[in-house]
Amino acid sequence: MPDHSSPEDPSARTAADLAYAAYGDLVKIDSALCKKLAAETALREPTQRRVDQKLNIERRSNVEALLAHMTGQAAPKPCKNCHKGHGPWTQCVVYDGQMCGSCTNCWFNASGSRCTFHENNHQQPQTLFAATVTSGANLLFSQPTIAQPSPSNVNLSTDVNHWGLSESTKQLITQTITDVSTFSRRDRFLARIEAAAKELGMRIAEYEEFLRTPEGIAEQNAALDRDRAQNRDTQATEASMADAPADDVLT
Ligand SMILES: [Zn+2]
Ligand SMILES: [Zn+2]
Repeated sequence: MPDHSSPEDPSARTAADLAYAAYGDLVKIDSALCKKLAAETALREPTQRRVDQKLNIERRSNVEALLAHMTGQAAPKPCKNCHKGHGPWTQCVVYDGQMCGSCTNCWFNASGSRCTFHENNHQQPQTLFAATVTSGANLLFSQPTIAQPSPSNVNLSTDVNHWGLSESTKQLITQTITDVSTFSRRDRFLARIEAAAKELGMRIAEYEEFLRTPEGIAEQNAALDRDRAQNRDTQATEASMADAPADDVLT
């Protein structure tokens, strides 16, 4: 097998070359991630498990999966889904730092969260923080009142570099901003719902964490005491009302 991995190799073909060769004009390279991946040297052909399977390659995340499939690293041990023979291509490939850690087969058709390599499926300490930032960015950019999202996206993408964030978090934010800028209105509504759900989950988790701290326990106890005191007052009021004639209570 010829070595396509050397950038100096004049016969080296980019991921874009191979993508067009395999899937023709259906391949639309428009997002920042697609452009980046498309320009890289292809390390492997996209070999389908079922040659006759028609892939929905018009979907942007599927183009990302395709391009990353050709340029990423083959997993030493395939994820559970690839192991079971799921996903369009024969190999389990991960592109480091992209697609939330999921393999390209799982990322295809937006099933990345089901991949055993997806960052949410490992309990990494950074994951929670990263998820907050993502949902924040989603909320920010999915406001339907923003008529022209592109200029602010560009500014924010540049700003991200000055926030002193870790490389993985930076990539996550940049990726999310890029994703959202290419969303249709429907996608944006759905993204807002998803972001709000994540945000709610995070807040509940934070609240529950707080309740386990000494401060939280003290406040919780104080609140319970107040409730009990209020209940006593209510019961006292009800008791005095019970003394009144029945007609008066009903009217
Ligand atoms: Zn896989
Ligand atoms: Zn997978």
